[in-house]
Amino acid sequence: MTRYEPTIGMEVHAQLMTQTKLFCNCSTQFGHEPNSNICPVCSGQPGALPVLNQKAVEFAIRVGLALDCQIRSESVFARKNYFYPDLPKGYQISQFDKPICENGYLDIVTDGKIKRIRIHRIHIEEDAGKLLHQGAASIKGATHSLVDLNRACTPLIEIVTEPDIASAAQARAYMEKLHSIVVALGVCDGNMEEGSLRGDANVSIKPVGSEKLGTRTETKNLNSFRFVEQAITYEIGRQTQVLEAGGVIVQETRTFDSDTGETHAMRSKEEAHDYRYFPEPDLLPLLINAEWLDQIKSS
Ligand code: ADP
Ligand code: MG
Ligand code: ZN
Repeated sequence: MTRYEPTIGMEVHAQLMTQTKLFCNCSTQFGHEPNSNICPVCSGQPGALPVLNQKAVEFAIRVGLALDCQIRSESVFARKNYFYPDLPKGYQISQFDKPICENGYLDIVTDGKIKRIRIHRIHIEEDAGKLLHQGAASIKGATHSLVDLNRACTPLIEIVTEPDIASAAQARAYMEKLHSIVVALGVCDGNMEEGSLRGDANVSIKPVGSEKLGTRTETKNLNSFRFVEQAITYEIGRQTQVLEAGGVIVQETRTFDSDTGETHAMRSKEEAHDYRYFPEPDLLPLLINAEWLDQIKSS
């Protein structure tokens, strides 16, 4: 019998099914010629200003209401600063301390019983572009990389749970139910292969009965229900072996290899302060009036 029990929190990105991008009029359609759906805003040209897509806000609120969240009457966009070639502005517009939705829940059925998974927050953010590595199957061994910005500035919501999930099977059930809800709401096409819904799994283990949570790892970009379950199962096993052998768990970001079913360390965990978040000066605070909220609720 194992002496440890797992704790899991999920962060899920859902691409919103708007016609146009989050802060410009470019098309969000998938599969076009690289860099054909771009403009000065989503390609990060100096002086280009973002204009918020109202439909994306409506879709985020729909999800918030479906998950019984409180909808903030005032939320704020923030710059999350980091450098990567698929992020031409040098920052992602996201939300930080004032996300649009907070404090909801989703009930799942597990072992014939209802289990409540609390939703910590839902925020709106833009996606990055895509790097196409050349000369090898992945970045490893590639000779060079091409940048496609068609996906840059596509609207996403990130739905974050409290660490309430207790097994890989529960995490899968949570993802499946969340998928069915966003699809039923008509806000996300649910196409996981194309990355429209993808999950990051935060996993830790602790001695059975202990109150204090263990150190967690975060396995990124799990784009199928099976991968969610496999990656978490692998991570629980790996962490158990490390602790049994007298080792310590390192807080880090990991990737999942679907060929082997294993997770691999990618980078040490970044903290919020590393991103130097600050309120986005090019966008006003987002005010939601009660009348509009009621309209969305009744729809
Ligand atoms: P970050 O924004 O750095 O990823 P958060 O504190 O917002 O970190 O947590 C992200 C996710 O990790 C949430 O779903 C949360 O419930 C989960 N989480 C936090 N601590 C633990 C832990 N010790 N074990 C498992 N999951 C955790
Ligand atoms: Mg995270
Ligand atoms: Zn654009």
